[in-house]
Amino acid sequence: MQGNAIGIDIGGTNIRAARIAADGTILDRRAVPTDRNPEGCLQTCIDLIAALRDSDTVAIGAGVPGQVDFDRQVALSGGYVDLSRIPFAARLAKATGLPVTIDNDASMALLGESRAGAARGYGNVVLFTIGTGIGGAILDHGRILRGRSAAGQLGHLTVVPGGRACVCGRRGCVETESSGTAFATHLTEAGLPPHLKAQDLLGMAPSDSRAQQVLTRWAGPLRAAIDTMITATAPDVVLIGGGAGAAALAALNTVPALKSWFDAPVLSAALQDDAGVTGAALASLPRGRRLVLVNGVPASGKSRIADALAKAGGWPVLSLDTVKAPFLAEFAPVDRPTNRRYGIAAYRAIFDVIAQSPPDATVVIDAWFGFQPRSLLEEGLLRAGAVQIVEVWCHARPDTIADRYATRANSRPAGHPGLEYVPELRALAARAAPLGGFPRVEVDTEATVDTVELKRRITALLRP
Ligand SMILES: [Zn+2]
Repeated sequence: MQGNAIGIDIGGTNIRAARIAADGTILDRRAVPTDRNPEGCLQTCIDLIAALRDSDTVAIGAGVPGQVDFDRQVALSGGYVDLSRIPFAARLAKATGLPVTIDNDASMALLGESRAGAARGYGNVVLFTIGTGIGGAILDHGRILRGRSAAGQLGHLTVVPGGRACVCGRRGCVETESSGTAFATHLTEAGLPPHLKAQDLLGMAPSDSRAQQVLTRWAGPLRAAIDTMITATAPDVVLIGGGAGAAALAALNTVPALKSWFDAPVLSAALQDDAGVTGAALASLPRGRRLVLVNGVPASGKSRIADALAKAGGWPVLSLDTVKAPFLAEFAPVDRPTNRRYGIAAYRAIFDVIAQSPPDATVVIDAWFGFQPRSLLEEGLLRAGAVQIVEVWCHARPDTIADRYATRANSRPAGHPGLEYVPELRALAARAAPLGGFPRVEVDTEATVDTVELKRRITALLRP
């Protein structure tokens, strides 16, 4: 039972909150006008949590305006509410008795889109949220890019050198030109009535030069910011979200991207107002450990695959043979029944080691799982706190496996059976089957293996 979490999104107009299940389903929700006083804002959040929580609620996540030092869990600067003036996360945790995770509001929205929206399945994503201001966040290999602390404040990319003064201290930030607030400024400057919406202007342009001017001045700087981010980060996709996101995306069509070396699709975010609360709630729930079980009979080529995955994914590998080898050497000579008992002990040790790894770790296990009873695996997975599992089934023709084993028989560590094992292994390879019951990727180790592609296929089977 993973429980649910309350996600909070502190916006310029409303504070939204929702109780959300581990799979991203919204169970209940509330929205109230934003109190711009930090103390008032904190009290609003406490009240919303009291109204929404149930007996299964285990955590709180909140997307807050401004820069956030994620490691220290403090806001570094304000937006429409300046939460850097109070220890917001600590006080929210104290008042509710639940663990609290805060992050910049756009980072939370990107996590929401990544787990349950338009960025699902993509590891590298740039998000712009267009509203009262402009927020932004960057997903790099599935993680929010943070730099020293608060990277990704994309509203403050300079797009007009020497342009309008921005709250951040610089001039000509994209927020001063392409936010919802800036749209009203462009309207006034063009002498157009303030009630006009972007959709109205799109209907008037191109025959109305003033309407065209406003659209170009509003969307042009955003196009420049998007182009800059595509060049700087080579994302799989750029998402445009926020209250004015749909209008901004429509206006962007009036300033199309130039054909360039640098290209990425620019799409609409999918979750709209729910992105922030969804991301905040899911960010606060432990994601659980993920295990990649690289399985195959001895000499099936699985160690090579496991090592390649470690390089491609940065995932640590626990190999049953590596754990067992020092014991075989220390207690040599070892007969086959004893060797098997070392195997069981090593198998258990692997899951115990994983149980001590970070709660969201991804670990590769390199073993012939067929040697051990299924119950031992199920028990181990439970102990290791593994919530997502992918099996990589390594196979080759039985003759190839027999040849590989025979060639390496003399160089195998102490305790491994010698050449007399070859016929038995050939028979085993002929009848061996994957574990089953988990999402699976099959690898023919006689063919050339594209490990980058293999890692992609595995990642696609894991929730981000
Ligand atoms: Zn700025």
